[in-house]
Amino acid sequence: DNSDQPTLSIPPSMSNYPKEPEFEQAKDEILSTLENSKLFEKEPELKKVLPIISIPERIIQFRVVWEGDDGKANVNTGYRVQFNSTLGPYKGGLRFHPSVNLSILKFLGFEQIFKNALTGLPMGGGKGGCDFDPKGKSDNEIRRFCQAFMAELQRHIGQDTDVPAGDIGVGGREIGFMFGAYKRIKNQWEGVLTGKGQTWGGSFIRPEATGFGLVYYVAHMIDYASEGKESFKGKRVAVSGSGNVAQYAALKVIELGGTVVSFSDSKGALVATGETGFSAEDIAAIADVKLARKDLTATFETRSNLKSGAFKYVEGARPWTLVKCDVALPSATQNEVSKEEAEALVDGGCKFVAEGSNMGCTAEAIEVFEGLRAKTEGKQCVWYAPGKAANAGGVAVSGLEMAQNSSRDKWSSEEVDRRLAEIMKNCFNNCLQTAEAYTDFVGLPSLQAGANIAGFVKVAKAMKD
Ligand code: GLU
Repeated sequence: DNSDQPTLSIPPSMSNYPKEPEFEQAKDEILSTLENSKLFEKEPELKKVLPIISIPERIIQFRVVWEGDDGKANVNTGYRVQFNSTLGPYKGGLRFHPSVNLSILKFLGFEQIFKNALTGLPMGGGKGGCDFDPKGKSDNEIRRFCQAFMAELQRHIGQDTDVPAGDIGVGGREIGFMFGAYKRIKNQWEGVLTGKGQTWGGSFIRPEATGFGLVYYVAHMIDYASEGKESFKGKRVAVSGSGNVAQYAALKVIELGGTVVSFSDSKGALVATGETGFSAEDIAAIADVKLARKDLTATFETRSNLKSGAFKYVEGARPWTLVKCDVALPSATQNEVSKEEAEALVDGGCKFVAEGSNMGCTAEAIEVFEGLRAKTEGKQCVWYAPGKAANAGGVAVSGLEMAQNSSRDKWSSEEVDRRLAEIMKNCFNNCLQTAEAYTDFVGLPSLQAGANIAGFVKVAKAMKD
């Protein structure tokens, strides 16, 4: 539309597949909220960034060959999507899961750009992983796989280039195996991965950060919507998943006086049927079985109370239709709340939904929540927070880990937690104020629109400069 400007020839995408459903979903989610706001009216120049920002700067795809305990060779496909380095080095997790493909990694990398911008820290966006399935593998197999994966990935990353971390299937143990491999190959200690162990460069609060940050964000939602009258105290909170995010979100909810009424894994959901929720001891047992890569039902061996009448295990189910709650925290994986489940949550009285997982809600589920919000006057409606804002605490503390590594320093856990709380507060206020400035609304402003617009504007303006 600006004839004196050179036209850019842009390929439709950078892809192996004719269709990329998860990436298209993530792109539509962001673009539709931008288009439906006053953003491009106010800042028409920024629209030109859209076709450019939607394509990764670089994608690396590679073969990973590793030896099984039976002595046989196994082969997997590894990836790193280096999506956007405008604000800083590419930053984002590695996912090891059989479902991993480029559509999923491009969706995650795309969301990561805006999430990282929302932390206020200087980080670009990226994501990577492998279609390797850690389930049923021995510790030695996991180690040999991680070393083989890093044998190739090492040539594409670095503390000032690209700094991976964990995601589904990648925790402290895997980061340790990969960090050791990197250090041996490069003969160099550098902060190339985050989520490291406490004694070798890791930051305090990094394991807790995504879950804690999620709860800090929701605490601001509750406080704002209730005009300071309510908090987590007395609230029933449904959590899905049983990994790192779910565990620490639940522990923080309990600390703040709420009741945790569910967990789940890929095999089923465990829900509280009465007033009593999960205890910190129950959560410690869940952490143990998940570290051992076992199913949620393995907690019954040490916690017989979870098998009693106060709890119910439903095979193949997700928690949303099984419990009544005030707050829902999807913390397992993408698209884990359907339209029907969103309706069941609303019917059950749920008022706050915040994603600990990335793109936890389907587009149809978001429509249910956002649709209700848009037509409810006053502050008593369902309020939805997207993952790129609500779960930004994880990557935020990764950014703090990078800062500690670069300055050869280590901060106390109180200091890191204080900074995390501050970042989540700023992130909430930024989403709220951006939605107020760029959208029309009747009751509560859309945190979805606010997050997307605030994240996009920051990166787009920097790209233009
Ligand atoms: N995988 C996490 C996320 O989705 C953390 C990424 C990181 O710490 O780099 O944000």
